[in-house]
Amino acid sequence: MNPPVRQVVVVGGGSAGWITACLVAAEHRGSGTAAVLLVESPDVPTIGVGEGTWPSMRTTLRRIGIAEDDFIRQCDASFKQGTRFVGWRDGRDADAYIHPFSWPLDYANANPALRWLAEGGELPFADAVTPQAGVIARGLAPKQAATPEYAFAVNYGYHLNAGKFAALLQRHAVTVLGVRHVRANVAGIESRPDGDIKALALDTGQRLPGDLFVDCTGQRALLVGEHYGQRLVSAADVLFNDRAVVGQVPYADADADAIAPVTNASAQDAGWIWDIGLPTRRGLGHVYSSAHVDDETARRTLRDYVEETSPALAAESVAYRTIAFRPGHREAFWKRNCVAVGMSAGFIEPLEASALALVEHAAAIIAEQLPRDREIMAVVAKRFNARMHYHWQRIIEFLKLHYAASARDDGAYWRDHRDPRSWPESLREKMTLWQQQPPWHDDAPLLGELFPSASYQYVLYGMGFRPRYGAAKAECAAQGGSQAVSGRAREQARRMVALLPTTRALVRAIAARA
Ligand SMILES: Cc1cc2nc3c(=O)[nH]c(=O)nc-3n(C[C@H](O)[C@H](O)[C@H](O)COP(=O)(O)OP(=O)(O)OC[C@H]3O[C@@H](n4cnc5c(N)ncnc54)[C@H](O)[C@@H]3O)c2cc1C
Repeated sequence: MNPPVRQVVVVGGGSAGWITACLVAAEHRGSGTAAVLLVESPDVPTIGVGEGTWPSMRTTLRRIGIAEDDFIRQCDASFKQGTRFVGWRDGRDADAYIHPFSWPLDYANANPALRWLAEGGELPFADAVTPQAGVIARGLAPKQAATPEYAFAVNYGYHLNAGKFAALLQRHAVTVLGVRHVRANVAGIESRPDGDIKALALDTGQRLPGDLFVDCTGQRALLVGEHYGQRLVSAADVLFNDRAVVGQVPYADADADAIAPVTNASAQDAGWIWDIGLPTRRGLGHVYSSAHVDDETARRTLRDYVEETSPALAAESVAYRTIAFRPGHREAFWKRNCVAVGMSAGFIEPLEASALALVEHAAAIIAEQLPRDREIMAVVAKRFNARMHYHWQRIIEFLKLHYAASARDDGAYWRDHRDPRSWPESLREKMTLWQQQPPWHDDAPLLGELFPSASYQYVLYGMGFRPRYGAAKAECAAQGGSQAVSGRAREQARRMVALLPTTRALVRAIAARA
């Protein structure tokens, strides 16, 4: 039997479910090859966090046909140009660096770290290699109000309200892309003799037959985890964070206060705090390791941060919520005619905000390679699993680098992280190799790599890593002087700074042209 794949059933209406439904529907709308239905529980809330995206979100929104202005206005969204890490290096004053979204100038042709290191590496790495550092330092937007939608002067993603984002995607999916939407709990699963899922039984008595089922049920992983028994492969021995306490903080003056152009990530004794600026409020969270700090202390740490950064606000007026998660990913993501996307596939921690980017990537593969029949599905599934395993290993490795390269020695959390026995072998090898040569394309060789080698450079040198051996003189000479690049980065920054509005002014201009 080799039945055709015509009906795609997405289970779950969080960001993962709606992004997948939209991408598949947008790709196949009008072709008549596949219909998309999304079922979500009216009782189980979405996780409600996930407010930082990557530049990939611009491609996703454009693909599914959402205008950027509508997105900015309806999702209370702003522009994110990267992450600013505070206190990760040694925890002392002035310990901060940025990981911007723009690649270093000339990155395809020459390794900027070679030149930068050869000349002493005194200027902060990001300042030396990209004008975006100067734009971020002045709190400016990545584009002008008149710049076409999704285009930019410097690369950007978004900060957004997760609830409003899912609501916008839902409206768009149903009214524009023809996705059928059902609100009910999946209460049972009907199988075919070969083990494929035949249909879902809903608590309303309805039955939903399908050919491909996408499990977007969040941490519950109803289909891939509970039904198919794909266990979660834990990453807790490498990345210890397993809880977050989150809250939202109003601005003192919502019309005038600056909107941060980056996610601020401040290291703490047993975790770190994210601080995301939306146009109407800030979203905060302290993500931590429950093996190293108790919930009450973690909550107090976030409250202290609120007091420090919003002195006019009564810190007790903020409602705090604790979210538990198990860092890890599924053994297999695509099992028979069922594929997991989003939290059901796995989650490590919010550092570098890679979760939605991986959702977009997985959903784009499903949309582009949607198998026409069951035989082809087996091949697509095998390749999908291999690709996702690769990405999860790279995510774990790259996130661990932020901790492994730290010189913090103030408590068990940081000491445990710095212990090379807790590093993946691939990271141990790279840290050894980087003693003589900077990260480069071989360290992240795939075309569709989530973290290119430029990201490794930004973090490694931002963290203060300096190699044991200098690069060979001839190699540096062939690369030209770093001053030429940093001079160009500074010159470009100077020109951009004169032209770009503040992030607040850009958001206001977009709101005004509604
Ligand atoms: C603390 C924290 C911070 C994060 N920060 C970021 C970030 O900054 N950037 C980023 O990219 N990602 C972040 N993430 C991850 C991001 O939140 C998720 O990847 C994203 O929200 C997708 O979630 P989801 O749709 O998979 O799951 P959920 O939002 O949990 O949705 C699950 C859906 O399944 C439905 N469901 C469950 N059971 C049933 C059932 N029986 N029948 C029918 N429906 C059912 C629910 O109703 C719901 O609609 C963060 C995660 C955490 C925990």
